[in-house]
Amino acid sequence: MDKQAKVYVAGHRGLVGSALVRKLEERGFANIVTATSKQLDLRDNAAVANFFRSNRPDYVYVAAAKVGGILANDTYPAEFLYDNLMIEANLIHEAYRSGVEKLLFLGSTCIYPKLAPQPLKEEYLLTGALEPTNEWYAVAKITGIKLCQAYRRQYGCRFIAAMPTNLYGPGDNFDLNRSHVLPALIRKFHDARLSGAPTVTVWGTGSPRREFLHSDDCADACLFLMGEYDNEGIINIGVGKDIPIRELAMLVGEAVGYRGDIVFDTSKPDGTPRKLVDVGKLTALGWTASIPLADGIRQAYRWFLQHPPGDAS
Ligand code: GDP
Repeated sequence: MDKQAKVYVAGHRGLVGSALVRKLEERGFANIVTATSKQLDLRDNAAVANFFRSNRPDYVYVAAAKVGGILANDTYPAEFLYDNLMIEANLIHEAYRSGVEKLLFLGSTCIYPKLAPQPLKEEYLLTGALEPTNEWYAVAKITGIKLCQAYRRQYGCRFIAAMPTNLYGPGDNFDLNRSHVLPALIRKFHDARLSGAPTVTVWGTGSPRREFLHSDDCADACLFLMGEYDNEGIINIGVGKDIPIRELAMLVGEAVGYRGDIVFDTSKPDGTPRKLVDVGKLTALGWTASIPLADGIRQAYRWFLQHPPGDAS
């Protein structure tokens, strides 16, 4: 990729989008375009069309999405489906209309069937029923993949779709009702340590297994794929290792320095039993993750301490 190229990062305030901007700047890209949701409502087709006409980006990263953890997904199905469909349809269609050189669409591993064999291979897409707690988001993301494939087939667009596993990192959402498990646990253990609470409550049974990828690693993989990958097939981004939520809770407890007990609230959903991606395709191209989970958690906790929830600075 030419360092002078104009690169539009849609969703630059999100977990992956902000990591993408940091990574692009670090690599010397000087022509990065962004717009906040106040400046540009990505659900509004006329606004998105106008944005592409005025800015004419060469490369587009679609990191914009309405995201949330297991509870948010289950509580706001209409928003998760409508907002995500509109965002991706507008971005992909307008990227095609303005002749964008290449586009990378970020999906999610929840696009795979709930009971697919593990590790999840790219070819398992659309081979079975989805996990019901996040099927709205998953259906929207599957549509995003299909849009990339359809525009490639019909118009020859160089649009690719990558599926990152569960992500965490600086700028994560620490709101307990909307966040994913890792930032939620950082906040819960931190609050419990400060208040001297004897226990921390972890949702579900603690036995579901998840894989966690640092957002800086994800951004690195996205830049790599933008340069190296140009196929219709989706490609997973992950670390190739997963752990039970129970163990994750112990790791977070250690990083935070909490000495109390962990209890499990089994009235809360477990979600899909396991979500580990097969990273064989990405590894064969020459990319592997480099941030170990324990280091990443300590780093994310430091970020949390420097940006207390409710602090807008
Ligand atoms: P998922 O990967 O789509 O299921 O999303 P989450 O990151 O929200 O949840 C992953 C797993 O962590 C599920 O089994 C949750 O029940 C479990 N979990 C345990 N405690 C929490 C918590 O405080 N917040 C969230 N979001 N999940 C939790």
